[in-house]
Amino acid sequence: MVEVWSQVQGSLKRKLGAQNFEIWIRPIQPTRLDHDGVHLQVPNRYYRDWVRDNYGQDLRDELFAALGHPVPVEFRIAGREAVPVHHTQEPAPRQPIPGVAADKVFDNFVVGASNQFAHAAALAVAEAPGDMPYNPLFIYGGTGLGKTHLLHAVGNRIRQDDPGATVLYVTAEQFTNELIDALRYRQMPTFRDKYRKLPTLLLMDDVQFLSGKDRTQEELFHTFEWLKERGRQIVFTADVLPREIRGLEPRLRTRCESGMLADTQPPDLETLVAILHQKADDLGLNLDPEVAQWVAARVRGSIRELEGVLHRLSALCRLHRSPATLLFAQTHLSAVLMNQPRVPQPDFIIERVAEHYEVSPADILGKRRNRPLVLPRHVAMWLIRKLTARSFPDIGRVFQRDHATVQHACRKISNQLDQDHQLRRSVEQLEHALQH
Ligand code: ADP
Ligand code: MG
Repeated sequence: MVEVWSQVQGSLKRKLGAQNFEIWIRPIQPTRLDHDGVHLQVPNRYYRDWVRDNYGQDLRDELFAALGHPVPVEFRIAGREAVPVHHTQEPAPRQPIPGVAADKVFDNFVVGASNQFAHAAALAVAEAPGDMPYNPLFIYGGTGLGKTHLLHAVGNRIRQDDPGATVLYVTAEQFTNELIDALRYRQMPTFRDKYRKLPTLLLMDDVQFLSGKDRTQEELFHTFEWLKERGRQIVFTADVLPREIRGLEPRLRTRCESGMLADTQPPDLETLVAILHQKADDLGLNLDPEVAQWVAARVRGSIRELEGVLHRLSALCRLHRSPATLLFAQTHLSAVLMNQPRVPQPDFIIERVAEHYEVSPADILGKRRNRPLVLPRHVAMWLIRKLTARSFPDIGRVFQRDHATVQHACRKISNQLDQDHQLRRSVEQLEHALQH
């Protein structure tokens, strides 16, 4: 059975193309395959109808070729506890979800105050997909703070609880590109089938990418309505709130806002240390608490960066056949971590800028708009953006202004830096002082 099926798979892959194959054929599991008949198990009803109508003939042809004579083919829908009829071996390994990392799960997501709400919301969705009020769930926050991890965790959990569930993970960028191709090659029906009929769960990452892309937004809106009407779960992520995504169609915005909004914030030191320990465990690295503290205190902010340092440490330990002691870490990582600019906090930046321009921090944060205050205010925004990589809305909150104001200020300073040497010198000085 294994042999015949893999031959059939091979032929269908060539015939239908890799993408169609991955979507439609790969998830099929033969539960019976012999000269008298074939039972093919498919994830759900939609899936069965689609495969039967579109690939039924291809399947029959290839089975005929592989077995040497025609056989009746029957589709079976996988139930939650479906036990394959003729299971003689170990159950097949779970099918990976295209685009989803199998190791991004809830179990290795460290929960702290910074991400507690997003974690709880994601878990709620994974446990009861499609239920109100979590449909859709919209997770937002700065880069490297665990949004994609949570998205994958939802997919993996749902797949684990219900192997028949069809989880579709896509970045907004992929969605856009697929739509462009579908329009160009006149394959809209296939595109719509993929996004409407198929998924039990649609996970869309980095929705801010849709900013200003009207045609894609329109398609997403209709996809959303279609799925929502049928109680299918949708989860979005973005780096900002829906209303802060520029050029997001109002009706799409209200849909995004109609479910649950949950943010991920930069973790505090304790959470960073806990994440370090978790990642060390994943790597099989025995991490001394002292070392974790020492590293976490030097890589504040981005979890992705933290992982980079840890991978380096783990590789060095293997290379030198040494345990990861504090001394070892200090000896081998100091060069990397010391060159790592310090990540200053926004209020510290504001203080230094105020000092430099001989105004008060309150003036910088205030609302007065005379020129001697506006420049330092804009410089402070620009420096916070550059040195802490916070999102425009986050910075806006510090100044009690909206994200567009901050964005505008940052753009203005960036432009001015090219022409205004004095400004450039000031900014360079400040940057240096803030990072050392
Ligand atoms: P985002 O999508 O918000 O930019 P990611 O989800 O890609 O960020 O996270 C960046 C890296 O940090 C990933 O490898 C992820 O596993 C890890 N990470 C982020 N938050 C956590 C957490 N709370 N616990 C464990 N790992 C985390
Ligand atoms: Mg991401």
